[in-house]
Amino acid sequence: MVDAAQGAPTGRRLSAPRLIVASHNRGKVREIGDLLRPYGLATVSVADLGLPVPDETSGTFAGNARQKAHAAAQATGEPALSDDSGLEVAALGGEPGVDTALWAGPERDFGLAMAKVEDRLKALGPDVDRGARFVCALCLAWPDGHDETVLGTVSGRLVWPPRGDRGFGFDPVFVPDGHEQTFAEMDPAAKHAMSHRADAFAKLIRTSLGAAP
Ligand code: IMP
Repeated sequence: MVDAAQGAPTGRRLSAPRLIVASHNRGKVREIGDLLRPYGLATVSVADLGLPVPDETSGTFAGNARQKAHAAAQATGEPALSDDSGLEVAALGGEPGVDTALWAGPERDFGLAMAKVEDRLKALGPDVDRGARFVCALCLAWPDGHDETVLGTVSGRLVWPPRGDRGFGFDPVFVPDGHEQTFAEMDPAAKHAMSHRADAFAKLIRTSLGAAP
C-alpha cells in the first residue's frame, strides 16, 4: 500500500469522482485500481470505454505517459491517468527501457521477452552484472491541458528461470533489492508497497491527492 502523504497537495488537486485510466494493459489497470482505492476514487479504463491508446512516440517514459493521458482526457472530457513503464537492465545499457512492451512482440508474449533479455545477458558471460530497475512515469492530465507528471523507480536484479505466477510482464524474473522472492512470487500487497508504481504513486499523492481519507 502506498503511504499516505501528509499535508496539502503541492500541485493541482484531483477533485473528480472517477478517474479514466489510459491503458489497455489489464495488469496495470488492476494495480492502479488497487493503489487508488484508499482515496475513494472509482477507475474506468479506456479499454472499458472502447477508446484507443495513441502511439507512444516520444522516446521517454514521461513523454509517452503524457501522450496517453492527454489523449484520454481530451477524448472523455474527464481527468485521466496514464502509466508508462518499463525495465532498464544495466548491462544492456538500459534496454529494453521505453521499448519494454515492444520486446514482447505483437502477441505481448512476456515469456518471449524475458527469454530475449536472458539470452542477451548470457551472451555477456557468466559474471555479467544482473542489476536492473523498473521505471514508472505517471501522468494525471485534465481536459484543459494541465498535467502533473511524476517518475518512480525500484532497483533489483534479474534471475533465471522465471519464478511465480502473480503480477504481470517481467515480474517473474525481477527480485527487488533486499528481498529473495520475485515480484511474481510476492503477495500483491507486498509488491504494491515497494514497486516503481508505488514510488510514483507516493509522489502523485503528494502533488494531487493528499492524505487518504
Ligand atoms: P508500456 O508502459 O505500455 O509501454 O509497457 C510497459 C511494459 O513494461 C509492460 O508491458 C511490462 O512488460 C513492463 N512492466 C511495467 N511495469 C511492470 C511491472 O510492475 N511488472 C512487470 N513488468 C512491468
